Amino acid sequence: MPSFDYDLFVIGGGSGGVRSARVAASLGKKVGIAEEYRFGGTCVIRGCVPKKLFVYASQYPEHFEDSAGYGWTVGEKSFDWKKLIAAKDKEITRLEGLYRKGLETAGADIFESRAELVDAHTVLLKGLDRTVTAERIVIAVGGAPNPHAALPGYELCISSNEAFHLETLPKSILIAGGGYIAVEFANIFHGLGVETTLIYRGQEILSRFDQDMRRGLHEAMTAKGIRILLQDVLQDVSRNEDGSLAVTMNNGNLQVETVMLALGRDPNTKGLGLENAGVQIDERGAIVVDAYSRTNVPSVFALGDVTDRVQLTPVAIHEAMCFIETEYRGNPTPVDHDLIATAVFSQPEIGTVGLSEEAAAKKYGELEIYRAQFRPMKATLSGRQERTIMKLIVNAADRKVVGAHILGHEAGEMAQLLGITLKAGCTKDDFDRTMAVHPTAAEELVTMYVPSYRIRNGERV
Ligand code: FAD
Repeated sequence: MPSFDYDLFVIGGGSGGVRSARVAASLGKKVGIAEEYRFGGTCVIRGCVPKKLFVYASQYPEHFEDSAGYGWTVGEKSFDWKKLIAAKDKEITRLEGLYRKGLETAGADIFESRAELVDAHTVLLKGLDRTVTAERIVIAVGGAPNPHAALPGYELCISSNEAFHLETLPKSILIAGGGYIAVEFANIFHGLGVETTLIYRGQEILSRFDQDMRRGLHEAMTAKGIRILLQDVLQDVSRNEDGSLAVTMNNGNLQVETVMLALGRDPNTKGLGLENAGVQIDERGAIVVDAYSRTNVPSVFALGDVTDRVQLTPVAIHEAMCFIETEYRGNPTPVDHDLIATAVFSQPEIGTVGLSEEAAAKKYGELEIYRAQFRPMKATLSGRQERTIMKLIVNAADRKVVGAHILGHEAGEMAQLLGITLKAGCTKDDFDRTMAVHPTAAEELVTMYVPSYRIRNGERV
């Protein structure tokens, strides 16, 4: 048995990498971990966490407006972008410290360096100009925004990375993309007072989500004043003399201060030395793995966004825990990607788990669709014209709830709990015999007794 410097070496200190390294070290393994930028990775440094802080910041104007209906008079209001950025940065630095501390306490060796593969057991620590060997290597290098380099003027545009560090808040922004990152940032910027346009090539924002959620959110965003251009694409971006940007689209032109591209994320596999170890990647550059996050090279594993399975933090963490169970606890555990509850932190939010009506209709012969649309109680006195939509998709054959979708306040929080019920295989009858919590919006989920309509062989009846 050859001897190695480490039992486990992890490349990438994000959600999946830190979890693998910390837990393996706490099990007494000798662990090293390399991070080329900041510990915490995309989620903590320039993803989920700063994004959610921005979401909170952007909601205040609506809170101020709503308060009037409840008797409040709110005085002079002003917003200081720099103050928000400074507060956000301070919080991110605190979290980064916690991630490092967790690794140190568990006994992992931390390397602040880019790492690349030299062979199936050897890693080059580029910044430190040294190599280390390991029995197992986990690649958890995540992904990066697709720069969309074919677009003339792409270099004048920002991605979500830069959106977290803009010197000043722009007066106007065009966001290209129809995924959750594009949609969330459109809501954030609009909420902060930026004139916001979203451009997306598809027929409706948020492909693969349930149609009701997509349409409902589209309408809510438009009603707030966000402009949404569908079936349209950017052709060209150039700089005007006054510093603003001239944008040519298929269907028109626009002058804006900032253009943000949110057109998908690419796995960070370029220059990683994968070919030195013979690690297989797919046509998108994602590392190919099996259900245990094993690559085709027995000593090399890959997890998180770099494998392009489901790009979410809890998924990367779950994949890391399955790796630990399988490799270090003698309990082979395949990754379970079924029924992942998730949220879009738009305003209103979307919370969802399971199949959309469209996907379920392709899979099951007969469905019962329970759908409620109502004005949330808070909106009565505030006068806000927002609607909440709740929807349960039930397989008529066995009464199992196979999809649950909510558009409305705190939908993300509700989706987490709905995730448990779907994972447990609950039927509509289980929902029916659950007592409501009154008065809440969520009680609607257990009081929709009669199907709104049925889908039989793909047709609404
Ligand atoms: P990452 O967290 O990306 O970590 C990879 C790390 O590896 C990085 O720190 C990187 O610097 C480092 N690295 C790369 N190459 C090397 C190298 N060669 N050597 C050393 N280090 C290297 N997910 C959610 O679940 N909920 C959300 O609300 C959400 N919001 C998001 C918002 C935005 C704007 C973005 C961009 C993402 C969001 N995500 C969200 C997705 C989530 O951030 C990712 O799924 C998650 O971070 C993936 O974890 P990971 O460990 O695979 O990679």
